[in-house]
Amino acid sequence: MGRHFDYDLSNDYTQPFREKFWLQQIIQVHTAEGPAEARACIRDLNDSLRKALHDKHKLGQSKQNSLYFQLWDKVQPFRIKPHSDALWTMPSIPESHKRNIFKYRTGQIWNKNMAFKRHVPYMPGQPTTRDTRCPLCRGDDCQGHIFGSCMHPDMSKQYIARHDKAMRTVIQAFTKGQCGSHYLIAGVGKVEGLTDMGI
Ligand SMILES: [Zn+2]
Repeated sequence: MGRHFDYDLSNDYTQPFREKFWLQQIIQVHTAEGPAEARACIRDLNDSLRKALHDKHKLGQSKQNSLYFQLWDKVQPFRIKPHSDALWTMPSIPESHKRNIFKYRTGQIWNKNMAFKRHVPYMPGQPTTRDTRCPLCRGDDCQGHIFGSCMHPDMSKQYIARHDKAMRTVIQAFTKGQCGSHYLIAGVGKVEGLTDMGI
């Protein structure tokens, strides 16, 4: 049975550093009563601090030299507030979609290539993945393949439908802007798809 050395105070005012690990970390110690947890000062401001923060906040080991990090960092100055961040708070977008968008933006959409590199099954209950081939079209699987280049007929149809839907939204915005009276030529699907939009 572990023994805790944390202070047992009742609210944030009396315990202002609750849940904060700055310069301290939880370590396992051996006492006369058996194993216990205790707080200890971290040993340095590099690896020890990174480990202590990561254990608690899952951020201390973020790779800031990755291509994704550097590219997103590069476009930060071009964000148009609040529009660039609007999707994160839009109630019309389900949380599951937001999670997938975040995964996509950080290159974390699960695919055969990732399973292969990690030596794990692609799907639960399957054996360890032995190749990187797309389960649908047998092409080389990756995030980009899933969202844009899978050759399976059903996927192609979905790409076209997604493109047309997004472009119709853009066209609708054009019609309400300064160029609303101009001619516009675009390949966005069948005419029937535009009638509900008043185009
Ligand atoms: Zn495919």
